[in-house]
Amino acid sequence: MRIGHGYDAHRLAAGRDMILCGVKIPSDFGPEGHSDADAPLHALTDALLGAAALGDIGRHFPDGDEKWRGADSREILAEAYGKVRAAGYELVNADITIILQTPRLAEYIEPMRQSIAAALGCDAGQISVKATTEERMGFTGSGEGIAAHAVVLLR
Ligand code: MG
Repeated sequence: MRIGHGYDAHRLAAGRDMILCGVKIPSDFGPEGHSDADAPLHALTDALLGAAALGDIGRHFPDGDEKWRGADSREILAEAYGKVRAAGYELVNADITIILQTPRLAEYIEPMRQSIAAALGCDAGQISVKATTEERMGFTGSGEGIAAHAVVLLR
C-alpha cells in the first residue's frame, strides 16, 4: 500500500472558464493557468504520482510545453495514472478537498466524482470530492484564488 498527497492553487481571473474535476461550473471568473487550470485534478495528479514516487506534475507535464496549453486536465490525470499503473500500482481510493469561497459547489460534487472515475477508469465509489470555504480568510476567502488538496491510496 502506498499513500500520496497533492496540493495545488491557482489565481482566479475574470473571463476564465471554471472547470473543476472536469466539470464546467457556471461562473464569470475561473482559475488562470497554462492548461485548463483544474486545480483539484492537478492536486489529484500530484497525489497519484507522489504515491508511486514518480515525481510531480511539473516534471511530467511542464508549463512551458505547448502540448498542454489549454489542455483538458482529465487527459493529464489519465496519462499520469497510466504511468502509475505501468509502475505496478492501482488506485484504492482518492479523497479531494476543494477550497473556494464562491460559487458553492454542492450540486456539482456528484458530476465531479463521475468525471474523475471516468478519467481513471475506476468506480465513483473510490472517489470522494468535498468542498469547503476558508470563511473569507486568506487568498481563497478573498476570492483571489482557489486551492485543492488530494490524498490517494494505491495498492
Ligand atoms: Mg495547477
